[in-house]
Amino acid sequence: MMEERWCEGCGVELQTERPHAPGYVPPSALEREHVICKRCFRIRHYNEIAQVDQDPDVYLQLLDQIAETDSLVVQVVDLFDFSGSWIPGIHRHTGGNDLLLLANKVDVFPKSAKYQKLKEWVYASAKEMGVQPVDVVLMSAAKGQHIKEVAAAIERYRAGRDVYVVGAANAGKSTFINRLLQEYGAGEEVVTTSPYPGTTLDAISIPLNDGRRIVDMPGIVRQDRVSEWVAPEELEEITPKKELRPKVYQLEDQQTLFFGGLARFDFVEGERQPFVCYFANSLYIHRTKLERADELWAKHRGELLSPPKNPDSLPKWKRHRFYLNGREKEDIVIPGLGWIAAGLNPAQVDLWVPEGITVHLRPAIL
Ligand code: GDP
Repeated sequence: MMEERWCEGCGVELQTERPHAPGYVPPSALEREHVICKRCFRIRHYNEIAQVDQDPDVYLQLLDQIAETDSLVVQVVDLFDFSGSWIPGIHRHTGGNDLLLLANKVDVFPKSAKYQKLKEWVYASAKEMGVQPVDVVLMSAAKGQHIKEVAAAIERYRAGRDVYVVGAANAGKSTFINRLLQEYGAGEEVVTTSPYPGTTLDAISIPLNDGRRIVDMPGIVRQDRVSEWVAPEELEEITPKKELRPKVYQLEDQQTLFFGGLARFDFVEGERQPFVCYFANSLYIHRTKLERADELWAKHRGELLSPPKNPDSLPKWKRHRFYLNGREKEDIVIPGLGWIAAGLNPAQVDLWVPEGITVHLRPAIL
């Protein structure tokens, strides 16, 4: 008989015999100090198991329930993938509730980036998306940067109300919730979480000392970003883990850059100028002449030009044409992959990405 233990995610009694019954954990997991049941594990890693199953309508209905509450909404976005990690129409689904915006993964930004400037950029970008946050905090959930400030902001803005934490899959929401629990001192009562009662929501609720709770909503899966289309081991290759080292290319017109086999950038027309590439340091960038690009692609796709190793697993590439006016710095954004900063001179550029990826221009973040 195993000693009685409880899941730290939902409080259910753990068992190792019946894999499909509540509280199941593989026997090896019991050796760890902190154990959660298989169900909670799956919920926390929702994006990994539900990638193909998630019905966007069901997800949005779930969000709609927030509108009926009087609560604080805490939205986690990935600062490296701002538009790709945004929840479309969030303000329409959460009613008039206050929204605190947490921009995660600030640790991958160059140390020279100014906190205040980034914060202002986040405000302005949120406004473009129709949201006026009560506050913006930049943080690194993984490194624990600014977590105290976040915890204080949550306390201040929730003003005795419940808290709903929302975010797109991969924004770092699970990492953040775990950090927050540590920050709360991981006191027994705080860590014990329970399934959201009376619904089929895969949301986890964490009781707070004043009888209120933090509800961790599942992450929405966005199909319109590159990261959604690569295999897990390739996702590692394109996700920045460390401070970004931007790569500067002084390009002549009629030159091309390949970003692995996931995107192609043609500088079609304009004066020689710098294009600064912000991508995971491990992503291979290949420079060539535009006239050679098609041939190079045909010959080296899936090999030199990878990831992906299997290019046929992706939708066909589609071309998007952009005109940079040369008056202000702009980023050419490939959601879920990175961005190219340009705009010192007028330029016409073509960006090729798998069909369905929503590429766009934005005011420069750095
Ligand atoms: P969720 O899907 O929103 O719950 O996201 P996860 O917490 O599972 O994190 C998604 C990925 O982002 C994982 O590879 C994490 O290691 C990474 N990640 C999370 N927070 C941070 C952060 O603050 N900085 C960096 N560099 N990576 C992070």
